[in-house]
Amino acid sequence: MGNILGLNTKTRDSIIEPDGMDWFKGLAWIAAGIVGISFIATSVSVLWKMIFVALGIVFWCIGGKWIGKYVSAYRAFRQFVPTWDQKRGMYDRFAQELNTWQQEGIVPTCCDGDTLYFLKLQKERLKKRGLTMTDRIMPAKGSGFGTAAISRKSPWYTTDMVYESIKRTIRFENSNGPVYEREVEQVMYEIIVHTPNDSQLTHITMTCPNCGAVSPVAALEEGCRYCGTRFKITDLFPRVVNLFFLKDKTTATISGMTGKTIFFSMLAVFLVEFACVLIGENGFLPAKLAVCFLAAGFCGGLLGLVLASLRLLVTLFDRDGMKPVSLFKWSSSKKKITNIMQKYDSNFSYDKFEGQIVALIRMAVFAEYPEKLACYRGGQRDDRFSNILEMTYTNATCLRKVRLEGNILHMSLRTWWINYSETQGKVHKTGDCIDVEVSRNVAIMEPPGFSITSVECPNCGGSFDVVRQKTCPYCGGEYHMENEGWVIDDMRLLR
Ligand SMILES: [Zn+2]
Ligand SMILES: [Zn+2]
Repeated sequence: MGNILGLNTKTRDSIIEPDGMDWFKGLAWIAAGIVGISFIATSVSVLWKMIFVALGIVFWCIGGKWIGKYVSAYRAFRQFVPTWDQKRGMYDRFAQELNTWQQEGIVPTCCDGDTLYFLKLQKERLKKRGLTMTDRIMPAKGSGFGTAAISRKSPWYTTDMVYESIKRTIRFENSNGPVYEREVEQVMYEIIVHTPNDSQLTHITMTCPNCGAVSPVAALEEGCRYCGTRFKITDLFPRVVNLFFLKDKTTATISGMTGKTIFFSMLAVFLVEFACVLIGENGFLPAKLAVCFLAAGFCGGLLGLVLASLRLLVTLFDRDGMKPVSLFKWSSSKKKITNIMQKYDSNFSYDKFEGQIVALIRMAVFAEYPEKLACYRGGQRDDRFSNILEMTYTNATCLRKVRLEGNILHMSLRTWWINYSETQGKVHKTGDCIDVEVSRNVAIMEPPGFSITSVECPNCGGSFDVVRQKTCPYCGGEYHMENEGWVIDDMRLLR
């Protein structure tokens, strides 16, 4: 485990990708062997022929050994199936739970009520459209960074943003069979809260893992007011409070791509040179072959390197259909939002804010009746939102406008997504922007453990589901979520 600037990394038992250098070393020895053996076709004395042929065979053996080493490493890498390991901690446990949720419908236990509610909404939407989604998440193979975590300590608890490169198979099926399948390389982010501050347990609220009602953690330890279940602190923490995916290429894919490009450019240079040799005047064959090989090695190698760098550059700009985003606006937005919010909340963290906005948008997109959500006041929703089956946030949010009205801060944000939608039985991927107007009361600090699906009534303390009703069933008071967290005032789709 390493620690650089608050970033922890934990390696994963994985097979490393085959070393391309072994392959090229093998090729070089084989080329040298061919030069040696080509002495047969020359007019040198039999003794010299025998010496060079013998040397050539020795070189071939050495080359064969290197290539054999590469091929067996390549085979082992291909056959290796990485797995999640529960013992490694929460990140792996939740990843495994996500797989069993998608494949067998077993309800995850590591995450909070909001994340679970979102997963259920998504399943309902798919069901309504007669589709099933196979979403298989596996750790990426090769020499990646393993699992990385950035920790942030607040007065209430520590929040870890944990992420790792993953390979994900997304498949949509209807009754006739698969309608869409795609394998993607992404980074999966889990936001995990843990290590609560003992003196704050009466202030930190949490949704009951059993019934979903909101209670202070200390009350849950004594027995939930609503369902009576008693929890140990180890049942409640750590807990995954948000989950999202970002697109990314793995190290193994990039190095594999570089190696292939160099190999084919060397081969191309060699073939051109060799053709010239065949057409050209008779000469001393070993010398001509040696020149061909050297040219292939140096010129082809150099050309390959240039081409590989260009290809890499192209993949960096391959947005996978994502709409263009201004790098300047993106980086300045992060700074602006942080500066504005830190005036009201000294514990403000941009990552947490971003996670909340992502969760809010997903909730508003997947809800069957968004107007019933306490966190959505946008009125009639664009019909295309109800066709969306899966959303990948692409880590881009830009601040467009901000204004303060009394204690209510309004922000206009543009967010970038890659979405999978279904229309007329077909599933397609689109790069979308979603513009949202969000607002909240900045005079009231957000209570830790705030949920957008289940709340505690500020009047009577009763816990209720704000996904289905906006008034408290105990005292009848109207609930205003903007006093405790962000709400969406408007949401528009740009496709
Ligand atoms: Zn309960
Ligand atoms: Zn009430």
